[in-house]
Amino acid sequence: MTGTMPHHLNLVDGEWVDGERRANHNPARPGEVVSEYALADRDTARAAIEAARRAQPGWARQPVAARMEILDRIGATLLRRTEELAVLLAREEGKLLAEARGEIVRAGQTFRYYAHQLLQPQGEVYSSTRPNVHAEVRRRPLGVVGIITPWNYPLAIPAWKVAPALAHGNTVVLKPAELVTASAGELARIVAEAGTPPGVFNLVMGAGRVVGEELLTSTAVDGVSFTGGTGTGAHVARQCIAHGNKRFQLEMGGKNPLVVLDDADLEVAVRCALDGSFFSTGQRCTASSRLIVQANIHDRFVAALATAVSALRVGDPLDPRSDLGPVVSPEQLAQNLDYVRIGRDEGATVVAGGEHHPDEGQFMRPTLFTDARNTMRLAREEIFGPVSCVIRVNDLDEAIDVAGDTDFGLSAGIVTTSLSAAERFKRDARAGIVTVNLPTAGTELHLPFGGTGASNHGPREQGGYARDFYSVPVTCYTGW
Ligand code: NDP
Repeated sequence: MTGTMPHHLNLVDGEWVDGERRANHNPARPGEVVSEYALADRDTARAAIEAARRAQPGWARQPVAARMEILDRIGATLLRRTEELAVLLAREEGKLLAEARGEIVRAGQTFRYYAHQLLQPQGEVYSSTRPNVHAEVRRRPLGVVGIITPWNYPLAIPAWKVAPALAHGNTVVLKPAELVTASAGELARIVAEAGTPPGVFNLVMGAGRVVGEELLTSTAVDGVSFTGGTGTGAHVARQCIAHGNKRFQLEMGGKNPLVVLDDADLEVAVRCALDGSFFSTGQRCTASSRLIVQANIHDRFVAALATAVSALRVGDPLDPRSDLGPVVSPEQLAQNLDYVRIGRDEGATVVAGGEHHPDEGQFMRPTLFTDARNTMRLAREEIFGPVSCVIRVNDLDEAIDVAGDTDFGLSAGIVTTSLSAAERFKRDARAGIVTVNLPTAGTELHLPFGGTGASNHGPREQGGYARDFYSVPVTCYTGW
């Protein structure tokens, strides 16, 4: 690698810390290095945690106006640099440029939102049952927070964790996924340049089992907010309990159902399925990976969706003609293709896609299965790629049963023109997010985000609900 290659360093106590250099590649153009990053080791992670520990009391005592100003500045810079950061994100992660722009804007708005959340009431006053006693609940910061994030939203997910953490007076050590260190490195630069005091925000880039593990096992960390796979999440939980019984919040996978009833508007149903199942190359935890379709509309829906899926253009995310970008890594592509084989072996039928795209790069044709049963691995395990399957059902009762028959429970959608079916679904769907006549993916930053079952553990993220993880209620009684 040449010395002119863009590179990103770890941020520890306000200092940029180098390490062994690693390269990140463009999934659309194998061989093209997007940037290099400095690999952190356990000592670097330890130093970052200690810096965060030292900085925390001072940061929590900063006047709210000072914290607001810094968060607002971070948000404004993200918004100002949207175009440039979107190109980097598209090259690094492979999402379409338009989606990348949306993600940067989302990250910028998230920082601004939490800047202003600080002006909302932060506690409650209660009537005391005793005379001359004032009773109130105040909030204090959790302390030092370890943040571990996945590769699929390299800026939005760190933003929706880092912003509320800092707003509530915590200090942070961020460990991003190794596949997306350029985006995380740019975020760290922006946070540092906004005037964040040394040690308040630290970045350590490296393998989860090395630097991530240090965050889990250090008793100087008060809480861990994690987004990623369910297997890793279970490990995070065990380690947090074993090492200091620290607080943890886990957002994990999904196997999200989209129900299509006979009375649905076919065009709306196809649009929701196409977006929810395949956009962002299916690499969304809220992707619709099970399409549960009532018998009378089934054949019309499958024919229309298969045509629409086959027409999707897979290509370079920087090419405005592309509808779908590449799969993030060779390992993920191999896993997706493996599930296509598993689905075929289980007896489901491929009606669109099903193979590696012939172009150079990690491209895969979006794949639609029919004749799936909810007992198949195809319908039970998270694939995290552009693969979805249609399961036929007879009525709304069966649709709700099949939709809820999953270990996960992140999002669930229904397409119907019946108000009563929609209301029943909102009441009975076993998921943390329910959509009606909209894709199962696509959420708003000021509303709570999270699931049930194997999809989630701990308080909700985003919106005002984030406060429940990043602060500790303190009940105060004052006699007078
Ligand atoms: P992983 O679980 O593989 O990784 C998530 C993060 O955990 C990465 O930063 C990873 O580091 C780190 N990690 C891995 N092992 C350890 C360890 N032993 N200790 C500490 N940290 C560790 O998930 P992916 O990155 O592959 O992301 C895809 C998954 O994320 C999917 O299952 C998806 O559903 C889920 N997801 C959930 C969302 C939600 O909000 N519910 C949103 C987005 C994604 P590294 O990889 O760098 O080694």
